[in-house]
Amino acid sequence: MAGATGFVWHERYMWHMTGFAAGPIPAGGLIEPDIHIENPAAKRRMRNLLEVTGVLDALTSIPPRQATEPEVLRVHGAAYIAGLKAMSAAGFGDAGELTPLGRDSWEIALLSAGGCLAAAEAVWRGDVAHAYALVRPPGHHAERDRGRGFCLLANVAITIEHLRAAFGARRIATVDWDVHHGNGTQSIFYADPEVLTISLHQDRNYPRDSGDMEERGEGAGWGANLNIPLPPGSGHGAYLAAFDRVVLPALARFKPEMIIVPSGFDACAMDPLGRMMLVTESYRELTRRLMSAAEVLCGGRLLFCHEGGYSPAYAPWCGLAVMETLAGLPPTPDPFGHLASMGGQGLKPAESVVLDCAAALVEKIPV
Ligand code: ZN
Repeated sequence: MAGATGFVWHERYMWHMTGFAAGPIPAGGLIEPDIHIENPAAKRRMRNLLEVTGVLDALTSIPPRQATEPEVLRVHGAAYIAGLKAMSAAGFGDAGELTPLGRDSWEIALLSAGGCLAAAEAVWRGDVAHAYALVRPPGHHAERDRGRGFCLLANVAITIEHLRAAFGARRIATVDWDVHHGNGTQSIFYADPEVLTISLHQDRNYPRDSGDMEERGEGAGWGANLNIPLPPGSGHGAYLAAFDRVVLPALARFKPEMIIVPSGFDACAMDPLGRMMLVTESYRELTRRLMSAAEVLCGGRLLFCHEGGYSPAYAPWCGLAVMETLAGLPPTPDPFGHLASMGGQGLKPAESVVLDCAAALVEKIPV
């Protein structure tokens, strides 16, 4: 079935409860309770848009499974896991920093990580050419012993360790285009020369204490972590240039066996937690570039694992653009097309300077 586009979804992903808050800040005191910003709306609407446009019919459904505890323990500490289970059973708690959870969140987090595992297995075996795992809760902020930024389990890291343990994979690259820094993935593989972690993000949005370009890895892994912290306001031109001048040369040098994209849509022009300006056409272009790179470097093996994206109105259209591109379908006209002509969409001088600095780091990536 090579050539097919795999897709992971499960209704239970929408049942992970993050409680009451104002944006990401817990309710209480002067904070009037409202729905937490990490809620099902944007993800559910992306899945619904895929259905009503008929795109879903062109995808190959991959059923998720629950990740096993040994699979999770390859990445996370036992004490952290025990704490998660206890809070989930109690029906409330916080996994660390800004990561509220509710009853059964542990089981749903296992299903989220396991959705990424199932998609990775299907891509690795060649059952599908590439896949998108529309999972929740997200994973790229979760660290070995602490949940952060709405993330309980490090879905992509667990997936990479599974590919190594079960399939003998050696070299995996991640290209994290979520607007926030992929600090969890970075920290887990910081000393690992065989996992190239690339993160494009808004400079010091979240977390504030990581994501600088100087963070290159350590020990044998020095050089295999590449941060591209872009100024707020970066748009279509900046991201395309970032791919052409940094991301694609880095992938070509590293020669991964699979490319995994921690895929948030919070760098889009309507996101409440980001200050970037990407539009649907940006995501189409970036996906095309990733598909071409994967085709040349690793037999087309490309996996997207869903992360953030908090605009219920626009994130679904960005997701649709990615899925249509993967599946080779013509673009559905974007009702938010006016965003593409906003001022500032072109590459600006300050952004270009950042890219020049990042491009200089590519030749230090271990091969
Ligand atoms: Zn994010």
